[in-house]
Amino acid sequence: MASEDKEYMRRMADALRSGAKMLAEHCPVCNSPLFEIKGQLWCLKCNKRVIKVRGEEDVEDALTVITLSEAAKTLAAKIEEATMLLKRSADIEESRKLAEAMKTFLETLEKTTHLKKAFTEKKEEG
Ligand SMILES: [Zn+2]
Repeated sequence: MASEDKEYMRRMADALRSGAKMLAEHCPVCNSPLFEIKGQLWCLKCNKRVIKVRGEEDVEDALTVITLSEAAKTLAAKIEEATMLLKRSADIEESRKLAEAMKTFLETLEKTTHLKKAFTEKKEEG
């Protein structure tokens, strides 16, 4: 038996002796059974704590929040740009277009922030 396997067996024995539970779930990295130790999930083969994502839905929510954050940042930058252009603009028609664009950016930013908040709160509740 390789020494790392011996280590693994020893860790498993120690964990079980100290009250750890072997779970039906498996490590996403090495596919070894996971253990619940003091309320935390551990892979004793990798000797690492495993953070479990509850489901595909949570992954999607997390990705949505990241996307929304990016969108908010981009919109804020666009509003800044439009403000600079508007300051410099001497043309009424151009100014009107810029103001229109800013209005759209601001409205979208507000919606984006709102959505992001909704997703974040949903996660905290759940
Ligand atoms: Zn593992």
